[in-house]
Amino acid sequence: MFTRSLLIKLTLLISVQFFVDVNMHAQAKKPAYAIVIHGGAGVITRQNLSPEREKMYILALDSAVSIGEKILANGGTSLEAVEKTIRFMEDSPLFNAGRGAVFTNEGKNELDASIMMGSGEMAGSVAGLTNVKNPISAAIAVMTKTSHVMLAGKGAEKFCAEAGLEIVDPSYFYTEARYNALQKALKDESDNPDKKRGTVGCVALDQFGHIVAGTSTGGMTNKKFGRVGDAPIIGAGTYANDASCGVSCTGHGEFFIRHTVARNVAAMMEYAGKSCQEAASYIIHEELKKVKGEGGLIALDKDGNVVMEFNSEGMYRAYAKPGEKVIKIFND
Ligand code: ASP
Repeated sequence: MFTRSLLIKLTLLISVQFFVDVNMHAQAKKPAYAIVIHGGAGVITRQNLSPEREKMYILALDSAVSIGEKILANGGTSLEAVEKTIRFMEDSPLFNAGRGAVFTNEGKNELDASIMMGSGEMAGSVAGLTNVKNPISAAIAVMTKTSHVMLAGKGAEKFCAEAGLEIVDPSYFYTEARYNALQKALKDESDNPDKKRGTVGCVALDQFGHIVAGTSTGGMTNKKFGRVGDAPIIGAGTYANDASCGVSCTGHGEFFIRHTVARNVAAMMEYAGKSCQEAASYIIHEELKKVKGEGGLIALDKDGNVVMEFNSEGMYRAYAKPGEKVIKIFND
């Protein structure tokens, strides 16, 4: 027969065991590091992407995410992982960033990029660059070498040259596919803006618990008058806070600026106690959908949970954690 005190002891023991199990489970679930990338969202369907091109994108996404993962696995910082990963994507003509950037209405390439560190509210960004090979490194230089957050146009280019960044002839950014896309857009101004975009982004959580988010883009094909999108706007296209999450966006930039998308994901977590997934889903599928703001975002929360959310047909995307790698393009 159980006595009353024995019953109480047994109940206590089971409760303690349950608490330990739950906690161990939660801890086991938090990865040592995590990295997530995107290569732009838009009208990306199996019908308009040939199997050869699909393979090329999968390979490029795999290489990009692996660069960052290796750095994080070896104990490197999230800043280094984000910079190296984005530089790789900027150097690839497949993505609308760096080489492969889309053309403006005047037939030029004007590049925007930004970076934010979740640890100390440090941020840097550049807009309208025409001759800096890797705009993400320019954004990092603004963050680390100036007391400013954002530099634009000629002044930004002068700063980049003085800071020793690699300067190229503007023709470096020419790719035939993007030039043809501009010619098509010039002929048909009503052309769906979703066919004319792209961007690359990366968010990483390192083994020290620091989150960094970065974004780099050529903007939108046929953009006019020194147009600047969301990618270099801290709080719109990029945001990071170690206490909540890091975010990088891609999509129709004007909507992402008006809705301060990246910061809003973090704010919903910080002020309203939402999970990163809940916050991202709400903003992408409710708030932006209502105003026909197309695009998506990638995010990583402080516990290494990955979010890849979009309201367009597809988004080039991938993530990696210890022992886990996922690469996707279409909406499945
Ligand atoms: N958000 C970028 C811009 O508006 C373009 C994109 O991500 O597709 O400049």
